Amino acid sequence: MTYRVPFVDPRAHYRRLKSEIDGAIIDCLSDGDLIDRQQLRDFEARLAAFVGVEYAVGLNSGYHALQFSLQAAGVGVGDEVITVAHTFVATVSAIVNVGAQPVLVEVGGDYNMDAEAFEVAITARTKAVIAVSLNGRVCQMDRIVAIAEKHNLIVIEDSAQALGAELHGRKAGSFGLTGCFSFYPFKILGGFGDGGAITTNDADVACMVRRLRYNGEDRETSEYHYHGQTALLDNAQAAVLNVKISHLSQWIEHRRGIAALYQEGLQGISELRLPHFDQSTRRDIFQNYVIRTEARDRLREHLIRHGVETLVHWPKPMWEHEGLGLQNPGLAETEKICREVISLPMSAETTREQVEIVVDCIRGFYQGVNASTRYRVAAAGQLAG
Ligand SMILES: *Cc1c(COP(=O)(O)O)cnc(C)c1O
Repeated sequence: MTYRVPFVDPRAHYRRLKSEIDGAIIDCLSDGDLIDRQQLRDFEARLAAFVGVEYAVGLNSGYHALQFSLQAAGVGVGDEVITVAHTFVATVSAIVNVGAQPVLVEVGGDYNMDAEAFEVAITARTKAVIAVSLNGRVCQMDRIVAIAEKHNLIVIEDSAQALGAELHGRKAGSFGLTGCFSFYPFKILGGFGDGGAITTNDADVACMVRRLRYNGEDRETSEYHYHGQTALLDNAQAAVLNVKISHLSQWIEHRRGIAALYQEGLQGISELRLPHFDQSTRRDIFQNYVIRTEARDRLREHLIRHGVETLVHWPKPMWEHEGLGLQNPGLAETEKICREVISLPMSAETTREQVEIVVDCIRGFYQGVNASTRYRVAAAGQLAG
């Protein structure tokens, strides 16, 4: 079905950047720059500068960023790693796949790790915490880092949904031993397939991850230092991401503008909880615009009927997927969130007119009418991008 308001629009996104992207790819192909060339190094340098760290290492997925971070931190069999269940499955799979035990803790009202729940879950076997910054909002990183330091634990950031998000002026991916990023096409900085990176200030970690992605090899000496994997960020992907990262700040502004329009249009509906939590210390990038309501499933059907595409991250608690072999950690809030959240259309291409359609449909739903009077957002000012 074609939607009046699609969740994202990859074709429109490509059309906007077509000449720049085509040029970058054609240069790679014409010059034979396919694996581990200058375009990759350039992108890594720009990513590191953007996040505010010394090093970035390009990988073929966000999942590998997580797995290699754990390996570089020496996490393995017999260790416990604390994280949340309200996250993409890759966060937990990386822990399981290095042979460690995931310990899943509760999230707070902003969908991110509850720092107290983290501290309570620490045992003698705990080696690390993976702090996820979900939906484009930095989690309680300052408190989590302080607790981790007190207990001598390693902090790994799953910042896959938070590139550019800030807490006290510091960017996600600059707090932990590593930050883990994903360039999956629908992330704020998306490639044309899978991609990822770690960011770090630790030269040894950067060196080890550079080897792990290249089957354990030191490219200068040809020595194999470990059994690694084949997990480089493709050079052509890096060239495209290099083009896109120059637009990133503008896209963040645009998303923040769209979020403000949703907020203005949806405020006052008492059944809805909007994602605007304490903005005094944080700068959110709204990777997802998540609203919460007990009538989630009915609202979602109503929106589909009116041509509005939405997504639910995630409809079923992770431990209910039997194949994952996770014990039910008894997280009531996480379970409730799975029943109540819905993500509204949000991308660099989302327009003011689309927001008006979405707001109109949602207001119509709560007023019990199909399509109420045409809603107009009043806010003056231009949307960036
Ligand atoms: C996207 C994402 C990842 C990594 O995903 P890949 O598809 O492996 O790049 C990890 N954690 C979270 C929270 C994500 O949203």
